[in-house]
Amino acid sequence: MIKFCNLYSGSTGNCTFVSCNNTNILIDAGVSCLKVSKALAEINMSLENIDAIIISHEHIDHTKGITNICKKYSIPVYASIKTWNALESLSVQSGCREFFTPEEEFTIGDLKVFPFSIPHDAVDPCAFSIYGDGKKLTIATDMGHITDKILAQMENSDILLLESNYDKETLKCSSYPFFLKQRIEGNLGHLSNEVASKAICHLCQNGVSHVILGHLSKENNFPELAYQTVLNELQLNHVNSYDLSVANRDKVDEVLELV
Ligand SMILES: [Zn+2]
Ligand SMILES: [Zn+2]
Repeated sequence: MIKFCNLYSGSTGNCTFVSCNNTNILIDAGVSCLKVSKALAEINMSLENIDAIIISHEHIDHTKGITNICKKYSIPVYASIKTWNALESLSVQSGCREFFTPEEEFTIGDLKVFPFSIPHDAVDPCAFSIYGDGKKLTIATDMGHITDKILAQMENSDILLLESNYDKETLKCSSYPFFLKQRIEGNLGHLSNEVASKAICHLCQNGVSHVILGHLSKENNFPELAYQTVLNELQLNHVNSYDLSVANRDKVDEVLELV
């Protein structure tokens, strides 16, 4: 059985739990060690049971808890070489540092992880497809646009956590400085609700059944708006069979189990 649980999602911190049989991993640890611990306790897990943490990129909302988690629990942390170089200021003991190469599958216990490159303003940003017990999960946040290659990689995921970061109109009217608005909207920024909805429409017609919208901006989006934008696009295209939800920002989501 493979389990998936979103612990935190959004520009304020990201952390996702995935397990298969006796293997438990986290994707990103963008909140404090204490917050990760508390969230895991809610699903009857503990950092002591975590076999590995996989880092998507160096931004603080994906790495905030790493130093303390490693200090206290010595959990192996996987990141690409370039991302580790960018994280040089983090004091992570060398024994905890593990490496992956984007576009090359690697194994952690009962799980296989395929990291694939995504366009974002980090040194080597990656999304992940995770395989276990014949199922496929994909976690893809922090990207400025979606290429055909990325879209193809996300097809046939049993669960897809996809970024739906901002609403264009809300961003336009927000108090963010102009340069930041440009960064978010740029090719290496984040996905808008509109772009996410078009991708999801394609994916729900290509083997994806359960979609979770994640990494919502606190200032430039609303969960109901992101949900409704995607729902409208699916209905407009007569896509009927899907399960759609929005990841909680600061609260543990339900544990999804795939058998
Ligand atoms: Zn992020
Ligand atoms: Zn980022």
